Amino acid sequence: MAIVGRYTLLDGELVETEKAMISVTSSAVLYGLSVYSVFFGKYRDGQLLGFRIPEHLTRLFQSARMIGLNGVERFRDTEQFLDQLHTLITANRPTVDQFFRITLHATDSVPGVKTANLLLTPSVFMYNAEPLLPPTGAHLKTSMWRRTADCAIPARAKVNGAYVNSALAKQDALDAGADDCLFLNQSGYVSELSAANIGLVKRGEIITPDCASDILEGITRRSIIELAKEQHIPVTERKVALTELYTADEVFACGTSTFVTPVTEIDHRTIRTGKTGPITAQLRHTLAAIQADPDHSWTTALN
Ligand code: PMP
Repeated sequence: MAIVGRYTLLDGELVETEKAMISVTSSAVLYGLSVYSVFFGKYRDGQLLGFRIPEHLTRLFQSARMIGLNGVERFRDTEQFLDQLHTLITANRPTVDQFFRITLHATDSVPGVKTANLLLTPSVFMYNAEPLLPPTGAHLKTSMWRRTADCAIPARAKVNGAYVNSALAKQDALDAGADDCLFLNQSGYVSELSAANIGLVKRGEIITPDCASDILEGITRRSIIELAKEQHIPVTERKVALTELYTADEVFACGTSTFVTPVTEIDHRTIRTGKTGPITAQLRHTLAAIQADPDHSWTTALN
């Protein structure tokens, strides 16, 4: 269960989370017209370190532009955003790791189904929660639902309404006793999980579905690729067939809310030994170390 901070930023103002409301008449509620991102904040010695904040802001604004929400640039002041985060953290006084959910909601009242020239309201709230997948090994079920195609609702854009697709597939997986779904795209190739990217290791090489496989271009995925290259582990981004996963040496999920998690079973088939593989373990460890490192260029001190 998530423990949500007592205060939320709504349109730049600090309000009690229980009172942070948008209208039932807004496009955000009526059509799921909001874009968002979630970034991780590592708590250490009274300080919170935000992970790859500029990248999260860039993706948020790209998501907005991709679906045609205009006028978003005026929210794009990183210094002002960090000032506001500071205020939020001071008000909430966290003592453990946090996730920060930043959203741009389309809040015009009953404008009809359109995306341009809408009133936009930003919000930020913070919460502590368990990782979405069991850190010792996740079991996946290939979903009967397919990932929304780029020409329907682009998975590349982090749009609230698109998460109905994730919810359908995740529920299907939970009902079948798995921890999460494995999405295939319309062409039948591996795409991603409900809220994480996927990679496999075969003969020492990391392989992950490419950006044309109807994936969200995860910031953790990108980080893992960069870290693997630094560690001289070859990485290939390409189409991936489901049976390649079944026969992989290692499979892992990666995302803000899953970190790097070993996938040990897919469709009742055990992946290799059924235990965390060495490359997965190494990447998981490296990512955690960076997220806790105030001197690393990927972290920002938030308070
Ligand atoms: N895919 C989907 C569908 C997601 O919701 C997420 C979580 N944001 C990811 C992948 C992983 O992205 P990131 O590493 O940026 O959190």
